[in-house]
Amino acid sequence: MDQIRIGIVGYGNLGRGVEYALRQNPDMALVGVFTRRPPSSLTLQTPGVPVYPLDALDGMEGAVDVLLLCGGSAADLPEQSPRYAGRFHLVDSFDTHANIPAHFAAVDAAARAGGKTAIISAGWDPGLFSLVRALAAAVLPCGESYTFWGRGVSQGHSDAVRRIPGVRDARQYTIPVPAALDAVRSGANPALTTRQKHMRECFVVAEEGADRARIEQAIITMPHYFADYDTTVHFLSEEELLRDHGGLPHGGFVFRGGRTGRQEQNRALVEFKLTLDSNPEFTACVLTAFARAAFRLGRAGQAGCKTVFDIPPAALSPLSPEELRRQLL
Ligand code: NDP
Repeated sequence: MDQIRIGIVGYGNLGRGVEYALRQNPDMALVGVFTRRPPSSLTLQTPGVPVYPLDALDGMEGAVDVLLLCGGSAADLPEQSPRYAGRFHLVDSFDTHANIPAHFAAVDAAARAGGKTAIISAGWDPGLFSLVRALAAAVLPCGESYTFWGRGVSQGHSDAVRRIPGVRDARQYTIPVPAALDAVRSGANPALTTRQKHMRECFVVAEEGADRARIEQAIITMPHYFADYDTTVHFLSEEELLRDHGGLPHGGFVFRGGRTGRQEQNRALVEFKLTLDSNPEFTACVLTAFARAAFRLGRAGQAGCKTVFDIPPAALSPLSPEELRRQLL
């Protein structure tokens, strides 16, 4: 079996996750990791796989089938995805929801010019959650959709707490409010405010002698991040933070509550739930499945930028169409 040759661009949490995910997909092989840092500063988990400086990608068009871009959405992907989309099939997990149309346009122009296939925003949200929202809304046109995130670590909110003077380190968890989940599951299709849907919990390591009451006030009144939520703040030691809050768990729920029947008298509820010990490792698993689709669509000449909505589920699966029909229908 000819393996799909994969290059990883960027070796952070997500890049490492892709390295692990590829081990579970024997139809793919890791050709190399490409980084902006000195290659000798990285230690991969897979013996024998080379680490290259990012510039080495120029000239490797014949050696890599699909690039998995694992950089950050804020600054890396807006520059890297359009830069490589004309020369490689690629997949990214761009997650700045408001900027997806502009990112799509930039990647699409490059991919079409080079006759390559690019799939953007292929994580879990955006990504799998987007697919479920679209599918459930199409099936139940009379209804309401809801998305809840957590319990999970939000990097953006953790960073916001770390920027407060007197804070040495912090972790922030986003948590769905149980009463809101119950209300949605009841089929009442409730109207919920921001505060009614999610709460926030912060674990903070304060600098020695810092005024904890002031830090707590600065957190719970912070506009955009915390002011619209019920927020709990706990202070703890650096050792406790590392011991108890070192992971990157996440997850969430997508619901669609609808009505069916002659008088729309019957309730129908779609519920899709993710519980993830590691957000980046799961996101990497999603990217890896979409790499297979990018390769197949690329081979079929379907050039341009795609999102998860444009990918046939069969293109994600390692099974052949015959096996899929036999095993999963
Ligand atoms: P990281 O901050 O761990 O890595 C981002 C980049 O920073 C890496 O590609 C790497 O590039 C560089 N980097 C990593 N570690 C270091 C370091 N120690 N020193 C200097 N540079 C470093 O981000 P994540 O991997 O956790 O996440 C990447 C993106 O994935 C996020 O920005 C988010 O947008 C997206 N994401 C999307 C999800 C979705 O559902 N759609 C879910 C989760 C994440 P290089 O090797 O070139 O230096």
